[in-house]
Amino acid sequence: MAENLINLYSDTQTRPTPAMRQAMAEAPVGDEQKGEDPSVNRLCAMTAELVGKEDAVFLPSGTMCNEIAILVHCRKGDEIIADKTAHIINSEAGGPAALAGALIRPLDGMRGVYTADQAEAAVRADSRYTPTTSMIAVEQTSNFGGGTVWPLETIRAIAEVARRHELALHMDGARLMNACVASGVAAADYAAPFDSLWIDLSKGLGCPIGGVLAGSGDFIARAWRWKQRLGGAMRQAGIIAAAGVYALENNVGRLAEDHANARLFAERLADVPGIAVEPEAVETNIVFFDVGGTGLTADQAAERLADHGVRIGPMGEGLMRAVTHLDVTTEQVAKAAAAVRAVVEAA
Ligand SMILES: *Cc1c(COP(=O)(O)O)cnc(C)c1O
Repeated sequence: MAENLINLYSDTQTRPTPAMRQAMAEAPVGDEQKGEDPSVNRLCAMTAELVGKEDAVFLPSGTMCNEIAILVHCRKGDEIIADKTAHIINSEAGGPAALAGALIRPLDGMRGVYTADQAEAAVRADSRYTPTTSMIAVEQTSNFGGGTVWPLETIRAIAEVARRHELALHMDGARLMNACVASGVAAADYAAPFDSLWIDLSKGLGCPIGGVLAGSGDFIARAWRWKQRLGGAMRQAGIIAAAGVYALENNVGRLAEDHANARLFAERLADVPGIAVEPEAVETNIVFFDVGGTGLTADQAAERLADHGVRIGPMGEGLMRAVTHLDVTTEQVAKAAAAVRAVVEAA
């Protein structure tokens, strides 16, 4: 990959900084699966405190956080309620079905956010014919919804539905910290009604690997059983957990810069003829835009942008997704928008 590439493909594309690498190199370590790695223990304690839960467990990926939570909350044949754009539906290789035997009922939300009424209507009546609804999933922020922040009132209303029907409530908090920085709501306030939630370290927080899953002591004990069973238990994992500690201490507040850059990018694109984009809908670090009106497909646009040293992901037909993160500066984002304009004008 060219060093001067402007990489807006995803916030997973970040490289650990020298300071993060130094923290990793100096991390005290031990046997993680015996609970003896001080750096992992510190990361888990920090995360549990941040989100206001009793305990937490360090896992290799956000996907494993989701899948283990589903394994704990669901039995075979159970049904999960989620938005149709959810990562657990579209991007986890059918894990909920393959691992837990769970179905997912997709709701038609707005930008990845559904209402409590939609959730209520999707809860199955008690019948021998239907699957048993056992879990409701919320994705904060909504990735394929365009980085949308779930409002606290919506979460609380959905939690009310979950409580009334005795359903587990799970948050895919891959970008929870983006939501917190954008809204000013504390992570613990978003997390309060949830039985389980996790944050991703390898997205905007800039770590090379890892997610941290949090919940009650009982939930985490069960999650640990699955972690061991699936081969997610580690040894001297402090090397990677130290990156997470570093990120929580240094990389949260700066997410505001990513949000400002995403908004700037969308505003610049709004002036390009043939591009459909809604800058006012950009709440965090994700910008969806449509190049269909320029006569280009997203694949064609992505190829031509690559020639300009800009990487943006095609999402089918004319739709493209740009994601800002700590390895792209405001200047680079402005250059990327200019490259989009150049590609469109040449078409
Ligand atoms: C990236 C992502 C995941 C999966 O996380 P990995 O660490 O890549 O496994 C899950 N949910 C959402 C919303 C994501 O954006």
